[in-house]
Amino acid sequence: MSELRELYQEVILDHNKHPRNFHEMPGADRQAEGFNPLCGDQLTVYLKLGADQKIEDLSFVGSGCAISKASASLMTDALKGKSFSEAKAIFEKFHSMVTASPGLEAPDGLGKLAVLAGVCEFPARVKCASLAWHTLNSALDGSSEAVTTE
Ligand code: ZN
Repeated sequence: MSELRELYQEVILDHNKHPRNFHEMPGADRQAEGFNPLCGDQLTVYLKLGADQKIEDLSFVGSGCAISKASASLMTDALKGKSFSEAKAIFEKFHSMVTASPGLEAPDGLGKLAVLAGVCEFPARVKCASLAWHTLNSALDGSSEAVTTE
């Protein structure tokens, strides 16, 4: 288990250092801001909608801890090209993974997102890991209010 954990940690550190899709998006169809005051994580998620309610492009900018950044980076990678309903289904799986009792296996179908399974052992970090997701959800719903995890 500890080798696996180290591997997971490496992926998280890599995404923190070199976040994917980390840029503003001129001409985005939707954008939303999220803030986690407990940790100081702050990010903006941008998305472009394609035909059939698909997420054609997805990016983010912001600053925060390694978990919040890695989670946002992994999220943008995982959800590009997905439909709204697919994205929401993945969000729900992800959310139940990070709020699960420690020791449970990560649910299937999350791909690389499973590296964040260890977050469930650190309740204070759950908000860091889910910030990008709540922010995306708000963008998908077309809400203009900033998201806060409080
Ligand atoms: Zn954080």
